[in-house]
Amino acid sequence: MSKFFTNRLNNLVPYTPGEQPQDKKYVKLNTNESPFPPSKGVLDAVSNEVDNLKLYSDPECVVLRDKMSEIYGVEPDWIIMNNGSDETLNFAFIAFADDNSPLVFPDITYGFYPVFAEINHIPYEEIPLSDDFSINHEDYIGVNKTVVIANPNAPTGKFMPLSHIEAIVKSNPDNVIIIDEAYVDFGGESAVSLVKKYDNLLVVGTFSKSRSMAGARLGFGIGNPNLIADINTIKYSTNPYNINRLTAIAGVSALVEQDYYDKNCETIIKNREWTVSALTDLGFEIIPSKANFVFAKSGEIEGEKLYLSLKEKGVLVRHFTKERIKDYNRITIGTLEQMQILIDKIKEIKGEMGL
Ligand code: PMP
Repeated sequence: MSKFFTNRLNNLVPYTPGEQPQDKKYVKLNTNESPFPPSKGVLDAVSNEVDNLKLYSDPECVVLRDKMSEIYGVEPDWIIMNNGSDETLNFAFIAFADDNSPLVFPDITYGFYPVFAEINHIPYEEIPLSDDFSINHEDYIGVNKTVVIANPNAPTGKFMPLSHIEAIVKSNPDNVIIIDEAYVDFGGESAVSLVKKYDNLLVVGTFSKSRSMAGARLGFGIGNPNLIADINTIKYSTNPYNINRLTAIAGVSALVEQDYYDKNCETIIKNREWTVSALTDLGFEIIPSKANFVFAKSGEIEGEKLYLSLKEKGVLVRHFTKERIKDYNRITIGTLEQMQILIDKIKEIKGEMGL
């Protein structure tokens, strides 16, 4: 830290993104990306747009929001597009949380929530997950705070039923409830169906996972137009051109070719079941997952040791050092070929350890 770094942010510990090593080609199962390329139309759409890069992008994302409206069944003014769901979350925290409505979220969840809280000087409280890593929804009933819940949760993959989400939203009418649905397309159930009923519900989504566009940075928020207008106030006070032209046009094409992505999600779900069964056979304990990853603990090999040994053998998974989850690794579900390599490498490691 230089002597110029502001005292205001003394406590800020930045988010640690998953590794994106460039030294060699890994079987990359560490950042929950899709193993499948974007759909065919995306390439053409992006190439045709290159000429227009001389012009600023459309801050309102009109074409994209019209297409989103068809897919999600709400009018365009119920939708905002941002640079990844991370940006939507940050903007929403700035807009809706403060000393009077601090943030609450589980102790084990997406690591960016406390960072966004810290950088925006928003007080926050972490509520412990149950012993089986589920979110006890009763902890959030009538808390009278700004709630943020990832559903399915990360890194556990556990899903909370919509009835529990609705109970939380209903019991906190004076606070915004933010549901982060980054992984909802892999077997969860979206709370978008509830936004017309509750003016305090904001659903956050992304094109990074099920729509194979992590590198393009496209996310969104869906909620009552008053909430969307508030988030727009923050967006227009930060960077109105937050969605670049190539990303916007790629997003439109992806939505036109939605069937392709739906099929990919079905494949990932099948591959997830295959992986769970193969890991179980190897003595792993796995949290039931509705996401494109599984959270797995070996009965025999320490979490960090397994992560490092796999890395040495060219397979990347994600290990977290937090005490409660340090025995686990989060493993992204890729193609069946990739999952087979993972299983083979774990067998090799076990062999080398004499297990
Ligand atoms: N929410 C959760 C729960 C995530 O795991 C991630 C991915 N790291 C994000 C949001 C952010 O996704 P993106 O900014 O790529 O849309």
